[in-house]
Amino acid sequence: MTKVGENFNCIIALENILSFLLQSIMNSSKYFDEESLSCPHCGWQPDEGIDDRLLDFLDTLQEQVGSPLEIVDCARCEDYNDSIGGHKNSYHVQGKAVDVLVPEDMVIEEFADLCSDCGAEGIGLKYDKNVVHVDMRGYKRRYEEE
Ligand SMILES: [Zn+2]
Repeated sequence: MTKVGENFNCIIALENILSFLLQSIMNSSKYFDEESLSCPHCGWQPDEGIDDRLLDFLDTLQEQVGSPLEIVDCARCEDYNDSIGGHKNSYHVQGKAVDVLVPEDMVIEEFADLCSDCGAEGIGLKYDKNVVHVDMRGYKRRYEEE
């Protein structure tokens, strides 16, 4: 009887260790939880997780901005991306892009400049939504989005 109980406790302990290890290996952000980085419609993330450089960017950006940043969306599953009219092969579907609301005390151009300083590569200014899109496409490009 005790043997079964001991084995059970042992399995629980192993599970805890494994989930701890998994969490420390998986890319994660200092300031943003998994929920705010996952697909808003279903919680999906790419198998490889959110791009490491994008997470570093977000943490650096948050450290430069006093108030908590508001993420509109980061990862998008293909269905969700289609439903909101996102580009096919959007960087969002690859876990390499994030849309961030412009903080209240900043104008969009100023915020885009700050994003660039913090290491953003693709920078899209969405004037109508007061949102800046940032992606890690491998080269610098700044553009205006409808
Ligand atoms: Zn989804």
